[in-house]
Amino acid sequence: MADSAHSAPPPSAALDAIRAAVGEKGVIEGSDRAPFLHELRGRWPGETAMVVAPASVEEVARVVSICAAHGLAITPQGGNTGLVGGQIPFGREILLSLKRLNKVRDVSPLDYSMIVDAGVTLAAAQDAAREAGRLFPLSIGSEGSCQIGGVISTNAGGVNVLRYGNMRDLVLGLEVVLPNGEIWNGLKRLRKDNTGYDLKHLFIGGEGTLGIVTGAALKLYPRPREKTTIFAGLKSPDAAVALLSRAQTASGGAVTSFELMSRATLALVYKNIPDSRDPLGEKHPWCALIEFSSGREGVLREVVESLLADALEAGELDDAVIAESEAQAASFWRLRHTIPAAMFPEGGQGKFDVSAPVASVPAFLRDADAAVELVCPGARIIAFGHMGDGNIHYDVLQPPTMTKETFQGVQDDIERVVYDAIDRYQGSISAEHGVGVARRDDIARRKQPAEIAMMRAVKRALDPKGLMNPGKML
Ligand SMILES: Cc1cc2nc3c(=O)[nH]c(=O)nc-3n(C[C@H](O)[C@H](O)[C@H](O)COP(=O)(O)OP(=O)(O)OC[C@H]3O[C@@H](n4cnc5c(N)ncnc54)[C@H](O)[C@@H]3O)c2cc1C
Repeated sequence: MADSAHSAPPPSAALDAIRAAVGEKGVIEGSDRAPFLHELRGRWPGETAMVVAPASVEEVARVVSICAAHGLAITPQGGNTGLVGGQIPFGREILLSLKRLNKVRDVSPLDYSMIVDAGVTLAAAQDAAREAGRLFPLSIGSEGSCQIGGVISTNAGGVNVLRYGNMRDLVLGLEVVLPNGEIWNGLKRLRKDNTGYDLKHLFIGGEGTLGIVTGAALKLYPRPREKTTIFAGLKSPDAAVALLSRAQTASGGAVTSFELMSRATLALVYKNIPDSRDPLGEKHPWCALIEFSSGREGVLREVVESLLADALEAGELDDAVIAESEAQAASFWRLRHTIPAAMFPEGGQGKFDVSAPVASVPAFLRDADAAVELVCPGARIIAFGHMGDGNIHYDVLQPPTMTKETFQGVQDDIERVVYDAIDRYQGSISAEHGVGVARRDDIARRKQPAEIAMMRAVKRALDPKGLMNPGKML
């Protein structure tokens, strides 16, 4: 366990006061606690004196005030889909779940905005926007379970960032319970507000270390009327960069997603995921799943066909198939979404969620592949992800001939050479999954000292007692 600094058990007076503040329904007990203390990958087993689920913003504020008065730490939890352990308490914190704050408060089609509780799932927020004829564009694989408060606190990305931005770009205002129990109502729907520091941005990507997000005003978009999805075969990541640039220019910025997958990645999908098959006959070294969308009907197909023909002639593209139905488009997306499951049976993995400027991704991949081969000969590189955002999920699989123990022994070397490669291109060692406990020590080593000092100063100013999600991020 990464940070199991246990201190004295929480005073029972504090736990009794919390129980009184939320009522019996607000305390989760017995075997019902287990799902809150176990995260997807089973890497960070949780421990806590209390799992509490307040039913209103006022109840959250009461719980936080009691904790502040008794010096009791809190780990906020949304849908528990985070991949870096940030949502798991390690003994000295109570776990505060936002699951009962689950109402869509208001949808305003004219303002292209809506206000939701933090515990509304991402899928429910998308549905509410759809019912009002609008689009909430954030889309990630965990959208059925992750919550708006969680995607805000991790500044989640996903497959539509290229067109609509990540969560930071989709938040207009926030409501937050501060570490002293005060409620900050910053739920403005304004697109322009230059009245000093834009405080909401401290909590977006804050991973619960500065306060508890209880509500959010979110930006909505017009719903696209038409989508065109293609599956393309390419020679190299360089070809992908050229094709992306051409596609953006030729379509007038209509590219919504551009997902890159190496042959080794797709080979695992075809091997381990039943009923999956290659949409292209030939085995291209790289493939891209590209989606275009438009608010006007009947315009995309011609544009896409013409740009594909030009790309073929320019050597940026080797082959492509255009989805002829929603079902075919969904079958392309299934290949992309099942990659994590396809890797599961393949033994030990070093997982990296890195980003670089888009044009530098090919050089990063060449550098990192060569460096990994030196420290772990025969390692299988599974590289895929949101190429349109320069965000690559770079996973290193145990060589088939190597024991698990030997592979464990070279993990630190693999991490060092991958991060050194990303540093050479002024990239980021955590593009969208955040820091939590998994990357805490890495950012301390790799961010500039001035950045870490500013982060610590902000933390001290807002949470002087260090009670909000201690041991995470910083
Ligand atoms: C299958 C799958 C696919 C995924 N795909 C993507 C992807 O494409 N892009 C991406 O960015 N991520 C992805 N993720 C990661 C994860 O889903 C996101 O990080 C998500 O935003 C987490 O939301 P959550 O509600 O589950 O938060 P949790 O996991 O519960 O918490 C995450 C962090 O936020 C804090 N937190 C949660 N709620 C609050 C709150 N209300 N106030 C303050 N702090 C809070 C927690 O303390 C913790 O530090 C994926 C995960 C899975 C399992």
